[in-house]
Formats: sequence, structure tokens, C-alpha cells
Amino acid sequence: MLNSSGLMPRIAIYPGSFDPPTNGHLDIIERASTLFDTLVVAVGTNSEKSPFMSVNERMAALNESTTHLQNVRIDTFKGLLVKYAQDQGSRVLVRGLRAISDFDYEFRVSMANKNLAPEIETVFLIAKEEYSFIASSVVKEMAQLGADFSKFVPGPVAERMAKILAERPED
Ligand code: ADP
Repeated sequence: MLNSSGLMPRIAIYPGSFDPPTNGHLDIIERASTLFDTLVVAVGTNSEKSPFMSVNERMAALNESTTHLQNVRIDTFKGLLVKYAQDQGSRVLVRGLRAISDFDYEFRVSMANKNLAPEIETVFLIAKEEYSFIASSVVKEMAQLGADFSKFVPGPVAERMAKILAERPED
């Protein structure tokens, strides 16, 4: 079916670890959702060995944080990202860029993906200034050290994180 512009619907994939999802991630999701017909936020399941949030919890938190966005879908993927994108009928990968330090890694990954699947483009959205210092790893560390992390993550994420911390055995 064609979209309102008479074109094939554009599906974009926003892949990541989202452990935990942050306000920076949500900003990229909101902005990317205005550029494509459908945005699939894809939680990767193959990176970290000891995650803070389980994949199911990350997906639930992302679902709860994006209820205002009708064209956003939350999914999970394993293995090669470009294969997943092809299976979803997508030719666009969305990534966020915070600082020069992100560029080197993102450049290498997008080159590798281009080699594997030349028809797929990676689109980079520059982080909003106020979110450019927010990283999941920093939020995680703050949470584990007892600092107030709640202003860096969407409300539903903060609630789930607080619950995880409360249920965690002291070390
Ligand atoms: P990954 O492990 O795949 O890098 P992340 O969850 O850390 O997964 O990040 C997913 C994507 O979101 C990456 O492109 C990353 O650069 C981007 N990102 C992370 N934090 C922010 C932020 N604060 N603002 C904008 N983009 C961000």
C-alpha cells in the first residue's frame, strides 16, 4: 500500500542497547518518527553479558515511553542488524550522534553495514544540546551509586529502574 504521498511506506529502524532508554534516546525516537512512516525501535539482544535491565524490561519501558507516538513500534533483534532490517522491509537505519567520540565507532559500523548491504542507508540525527551528555552507561552508574538519575530518563524508565534497584541484593 502507498502512503499519503503516493510512495512506498518508509520503515526506519533505530537499533541500540537502550540499557536503559534515556531522554536522549526518546528525543531521537520522537524526531525520527516525524521523518518516516514507521519507526521500529529495535533492542539488540546480543551485546552485554550482564545488563542492568532485561531485554523484556527495556522493551516494556520503551513501549510505555512512546505511547504518544502512533507510528513507533518496539521490537527486538538478534544477530546481523542489516539482515534484520531487510527482513523488516527497511532500507534505513537511524543512529544518534552525540559528540566526535561517537563518530569513529558509528563511522566504522555504518561502513561495515554498507559493505554487507549496499542498499541500506544509515541516517544520523545529531543529539539535542541538552541531551548530548546523556549516556546509558552514565545513567546506570549514577543509579548504582545512589545518585538521582530521574531527570535523565523518561518517567516509566525511572520507575522501572527504581524497582530494579530496590529488589537488588546489597553488595
Ligand atoms: P549501542 O550499544 O548500539 O550504541 P545505545 O543504546 O548506547 O546502543 O545507543 C543507541 C543509539 O542512540 C546510538 O546511535 C547512540 O549514539 C544514540 N544515543 C545514545 N544516547 C544518546 C543521546 N543522549 N542523544 C542522542 N543519541 C543518543
